Amino acid sequence: MGKRYKTFEVYLVYIDADKCDGCEECVKMCPVNVFDMSHKAYPTRPQNCLGCGTCVALCKSNAIIITEI
Ligand code: SF4
Ligand code: SF4
Repeated sequence: MGKRYKTFEVYLVYIDADKCDGCEECVKMCPVNVFDMSHKAYPTRPQNCLGCGTCVALCKSNAIIITEI
């Protein structure tokens, strides 16, 4: 068995719609355009997520959870 290297990461992007107040900060600040707005934020393009944590840090409602899978 050769040594195995991790070559990519995949992230789950979850928004708790009950907590989201629709401030749009995550939509504006995500560098890879994961979110769209329709009253609440929604992770329309989760496959883009880099796991940078910017959205989690700036969401005042603590509505966003990023999980590495
Ligand atoms: S930053 Fe948080 S509260 Fe604001 S739109 Fe995004 S998920 Fe909703
Ligand atoms: S962790 Fe970074 S790349 Fe992923 S959705 Fe949040 S701001 Fe966008």
